[in-house]
Amino acid sequence: MPGADPIPELKATLVSANRILVHHDIVDGFGHVSARLPDNPERFLLARRKAPGLVTADDIIEFDLSGEPVVEKHAPTFLERFIHSEIYAARPDVNSVVHSHSPLMVAMSVAGQGAFRPVCHTCGFLGEGTPLFEIRKVAGDATNLLISSRELGKALAETLADAGVVLMRGHGTTAVGASVQQAVYRAVYSEINARVQLSAQQMGVPEFLTPAEAKACEGTSSLQVERTWAYWLDLIGQGRASQPGVAG
Ligand SMILES: [Zn+2]
Repeated sequence: MPGADPIPELKATLVSANRILVHHDIVDGFGHVSARLPDNPERFLLARRKAPGLVTADDIIEFDLSGEPVVEKHAPTFLERFIHSEIYAARPDVNSVVHSHSPLMVAMSVAGQGAFRPVCHTCGFLGEGTPLFEIRKVAGDATNLLISSRELGKALAETLADAGVVLMRGHGTTAVGASVQQAVYRAVYSEINARVQLSAQQMGVPEFLTPAEAKACEGTSSLQVERTWAYWLDLIGQGRASQPGVAG
């Protein structure tokens, strides 16, 4: 509807995204997902500090690109909100950011630069490999590994560059997308790629996608994102098939 406020719908999408990420064990008590406001690119929506599975629309508040809440200035916030603000500042094409500590991605983050690569057609977004953020290079060898300042967020965004996912050594992953749906897809399928890759490595040396194959696979990603999102909404009880009388 022309003139309709997009914020309530975007908040509902973020609540769904949190539930979907919990369902796939991408986030647990930690992790967060945000979305840029479509009519104000200098602002984004993110929950106040809370476990992802408990986030409701009322918990989601507006932040500016300095990483601070716009209205609820004293709200409890995630220490790592600068991951979101600095990526939005650096990447105009990004409209959603997922930060997580999913276990296999943490394993990949400590396996060295270039260890994590796309092995399956659903993971073409991993391209020629995933950049690895090494916090020691920017803040020394005694940090708590968290992105707890604008400076660290900026350094992370620089390492991400134009990629869809960045590994953070000993910590986790940040996935980005043009939409909430795409960022969530990339977070979930990064973990799946890691699972497949590790399984293959127990049997031998995996055959990774070539850069051209990854690019070709990514060409069909919008269809993959649309289909998986519809299915995932159903898994969390918000899909069409879960409504009475419309199953099948
Ligand atoms: Zn973190």
